[in-house]
Amino acid sequence: MSSPERPVAPGTPSRRRGGAVAPVPRCTVASFGYHDVADEPGGTGFQRSGALPYRRTVAAFARDLDAIAAGGCVPELVTDLEIDRPARHVLLTFDDGGRSAVHIGDELAARGWKGHFFIVTSLIGRRTFLDSSEIRYLRSCGHLIGSHSHTHPDIFNALPRARMLDEWRVSRDVLAELLDEPCIAASVPGGDISPLVLESAGAVGLQYLFTSEPWVLPRHVGGCWILGRFIPKAWTRSARIGALARLQGWRSALLVRRAKVFARAALPSVYRYYVAHITRECDQAEADGSTL
Ligand SMILES: [Zn+2]
Repeated sequence: MSSPERPVAPGTPSRRRGGAVAPVPRCTVASFGYHDVADEPGGTGFQRSGALPYRRTVAAFARDLDAIAAGGCVPELVTDLEIDRPARHVLLTFDDGGRSAVHIGDELAARGWKGHFFIVTSLIGRRTFLDSSEIRYLRSCGHLIGSHSHTHPDIFNALPRARMLDEWRVSRDVLAELLDEPCIAASVPGGDISPLVLESAGAVGLQYLFTSEPWVLPRHVGGCWILGRFIPKAWTRSARIGALARLQGWRSALLVRRAKVFARAALPSVYRYYVAHITRECDQAEADGSTL
């Protein structure tokens, strides 16, 4: 895909380095893919060590929101966008459905903002994950609820197509019944994509699929809009979040992401070992009833 920071033709203005305003020729979407927001890691979301780098503290998240607000774009819902019209948008998304989502949703609502919460439906009601009433509460606050698959498979793009479709269908149907409305949006668990993963979303009727690729230009694949995201880590500076919301720094984020994807492809056995032993160990203990 072409660089999001290439020279642009006349259109809707956006801020550039130094506060200058440059035109944007297309619908440009700066999306952020958060996970849990908590100071104590034991109470929310996945308990595996691989989840810790993705956790933001309450204070850091508040600074992020201030930095985004300073950029002048109010975070919206993807369902409210006119993706074929030139404009600049900011979207906030939250993966996994950990219990900290209630705090996150309240923080957004206090600013009059809306977010997207992507739920692993097989984990609804587990100790560190949202229960049904909490998911309904988030929806009642105006946030969008979507699928993050049913079981959060370790390496999504390694699944056979039939299994991908099954993960989407089951999760979509659980949420549709819970909220009494169609589930039309999802995010890819683990962020491992392939052409097949992108195609699988449209094949089950999903209209929006969020990836972990730092793209700002939406793509249309099989009837589904594919959106990129920047994934904040525990150590990401809020100033960087603010810059990305102003469309600065996506090129370097994409280079880093490409390097990681290349390393995974070059060392697949190492990646599988990492996923199996770092991202799963504590969740198995949780499933077995151990105290964490
Ligand atoms: Zn996830």
